[in-house]
Amino acid sequence: MVEKNGKNSSLSGRPGGECAIYIHIPFCKQACHYCDFHFSTSLKKKGRVVEMLCRELELRKDELPGAEYQTIYFGGGTPSLLSSQNLESIFETIYSNYNIAENPEITLEANPDDLSEEKIKMLAASKINRLSIGVQSFFEEDLKLMNRAHNAGEARESIQLAKRYFDNISIDLIYGVPGMSDERWKENLKIALELGVPHISSYALTVEPNTALQKFIEKGKIKPVDDEAARRHFEILVETLTKNGFEHYEFSNFGKPGYFSQNNTAYWLGKPYLGIGPSAHSYDGNSRKWNVNNNSLYIKAMEKDQLPQQTEELSTADKFNEYVMTRLRTKFGVSLPEVEEKFGTDYKQHFLKYAALLKQKQLLEERDTVFHITAKGKFLSDGIAADLFYLD
Ligand code: SF4
Repeated sequence: MVEKNGKNSSLSGRPGGECAIYIHIPFCKQACHYCDFHFSTSLKKKGRVVEMLCRELELRKDELPGAEYQTIYFGGGTPSLLSSQNLESIFETIYSNYNIAENPEITLEANPDDLSEEKIKMLAASKINRLSIGVQSFFEEDLKLMNRAHNAGEARESIQLAKRYFDNISIDLIYGVPGMSDERWKENLKIALELGVPHISSYALTVEPNTALQKFIEKGKIKPVDDEAARRHFEILVETLTKNGFEHYEFSNFGKPGYFSQNNTAYWLGKPYLGIGPSAHSYDGNSRKWNVNNNSLYIKAMEKDQLPQQTEELSTADKFNEYVMTRLRTKFGVSLPEVEEKFGTDYKQHFLKYAALLKQKQLLEERDTVFHITAKGKFLSDGIAADLFYLD
């Protein structure tokens, strides 16, 4: 099982064990300049999409035979736009069709501008027991540049209010924002620590194709993202949070003991999950599926009880490469006995051959047959993983 501290006692990626449900809520009040997730800023179809999410949940209830669902995660988009009636109908459908574990972790992503005390009370009265708040920054300049819907005051107040009703709270923070000095980034972390949240997810601002951010940078309206500043901010992040009792358990995730995200840990350990809603991805241990990323097409297909999905079967090399990539980003590392058990001797030899080169460069280290990225290699983990990939 995946325990609260993120340790795993079962590593199976097959149906019939511990699984997760992800529900995508494809609506936002306004578009953040950097975002390339699937969402609509028109809320007109929200009620209909929720009905279709429930229909999809019913249609797919037997997809992972023998599954026990340990976590449910509402992501988006902006799930804090859901009303109590929306949540009730989703939970009713889940609990009458799925085998849910006794104490599941149920997370809802929320934006600060939605978190009035009334809203938080409503969420706390539902089955939700973990909030992931999209703070991004406590500074007006950064929030404006990113076109977030909330202001700096709301960022702080939403956490203070949420703490009255929720113990398990995570916040998201973004670093490497153009114009963000090291001092401002340190101040962001200081405020987060003062507010006493037990979990922080932190990401470098990335410029995705076809986003407003990319266009503004091209037109010279916004300064380009400075990779060197992002690297410094990452170092400040790791040093500050680990000094203050957080464990750096995944490249972008830091938790106090007992507060690691069980849902994300399940993904990183290769557990199966069902992704419900437009653009949601699913994994059953052997294949990946993804739903159409268009709300109208999703509704039309679901009205005919058709799943608007595409599927990709994963080869052994695909699974090995994903295993190496995700494990090197986490504290769990790449276990040599596990590589041999899951993928066979050829893969173990391949891994050892290329790992030796990375060990020489002090980017990888071995502790009790488990390979981890060194402190020197931490910011380069994706590139290091690519050096270890098995190419068919
Ligand atoms: S609120 Fe989240 S999903 Fe919506 S546009 Fe902003 S970053 Fe993207």
